[in-house]
Amino acid sequence: MGYVKGLKCKECKRAFPKEPIHVCEYCFGPLEVDYDYEKISKQISRTTILAGPPSMWRYKELMPLDEENKVGDHVGYTPLVRAKNLGKALGLNNLYIKNDSVNHPTFSFKDRVVAVAISKAIEFGFDTISCASTGNLANSVAAHSAEAGLKSFIFIPDGLESGKILGTMVYGTQLVAVNGSYDDVNRLCSEIAAHHKWAFVNINIRPYYGDGSKSYGYEIAEQLGWKTPDNVIVPVAGSSLITKIWKAFHEFEMLGLLEGKVNSKIFAAQATGCSPVTTAIKNDTDVITPVKPNTIAKSIAIGNPADGYYGVKTTKDSGGYGEDVNDEEIVLAMRLLAETEGIFTETAGGVTVGVTKKLVQQGRIKPDETTVICITGNGLKTVEALSGQFTDPVIIEPKLNNFEEIYSNLSTA
Ligand SMILES: *Cc1c(COP(=O)(O)O)cnc(C)c1O
Ligand SMILES: [Zn+2]
Repeated sequence: MGYVKGLKCKECKRAFPKEPIHVCEYCFGPLEVDYDYEKISKQISRTTILAGPPSMWRYKELMPLDEENKVGDHVGYTPLVRAKNLGKALGLNNLYIKNDSVNHPTFSFKDRVVAVAISKAIEFGFDTISCASTGNLANSVAAHSAEAGLKSFIFIPDGLESGKILGTMVYGTQLVAVNGSYDDVNRLCSEIAAHHKWAFVNINIRPYYGDGSKSYGYEIAEQLGWKTPDNVIVPVAGSSLITKIWKAFHEFEMLGLLEGKVNSKIFAAQATGCSPVTTAIKNDTDVITPVKPNTIAKSIAIGNPADGYYGVKTTKDSGGYGEDVNDEEIVLAMRLLAETEGIFTETAGGVTVGVTKKLVQQGRIKPDETTVICITGNGLKTVEALSGQFTDPVIIEPKLNNFEEIYSNLSTA
């Protein structure tokens, strides 16, 4: 292990030591992990990856840890589903779903970033883990802190779905709901971080945290036969995942792991009720205007995205675009995915499926291109979004004639 040289400012490129820091003190640019790619290229190959565990740790040389991971042994390596039925409904002949709704252990892609962040926090010697979360991060931080035997303090905006709240509390954490939006929670956490020596996975540990998302991109490329797809539709909150998928594809290319070159368009997907990134893309500007979120897609409702500028840049550099869908379209898309592929995703997945439909209608995605829709979270955590969508099941007595009476109605429904 040990392929990390240090941290580096994404803007002015100044070098910083491997510490729990995230902002450049000269230009206020974000810090990112600086890898020794020379050394990595001598260690990693398709053979070593294929011989690795069926988890994100098959790419451990490209993860920002100096020691073996301390938590999350089974995170990642989720299915890439060939989605023929959904493809038919959308008019796409080569459609895939990268399905992190079944990621271990908390059913969202956040397990990838948290497995890295908490392992890194342990390397740094922290005994308390914290985060500002829109829900899925809360679930994952609570679960992995329990696994590590560490204390955790988790901050969420008031009014999250009950599945996200219960799915955090069950792990035995301190959960604090803040009267405000995620952006208020995040600002508060930055202040708390100055007073308490805790590892905030998405604040002071953020440079390491973000690189956990790269594994989602590596898996897409590996599972497509060491190729990158023509199109990837990514749900955007803080814009970490979208930039890291792009980074992952290029690292694979640089290390000679790909068949051919990266030729992928990356598309940003947001909810209309919180679309600062896709609005900037549509307006052809890299200036993000913060918004006050109002959408059922709470997991991606970040009005002032930390890496929004880089999210816009990724779509531009790749030749992609950004689109958004309203709450009604999100629900219809959740149902469409469930009915065609048997995959129950949360609202964020409704956003990517709904946006894909729009992009096809606009002619930005062509029928024969290889397209991957990112499904990043599980529908059982956001059941509120579907309330009123279905009638209650018919109740009968446990008698055959009772069933036969209703059968003709049921079978025509
Ligand atoms: C957090 C989250 C995202 C996007 O996160 P970024 O901050 O943009 O990396 C997407 N989908 C789900 C379900 C999430 O919880
Ligand atoms: Zn700088």
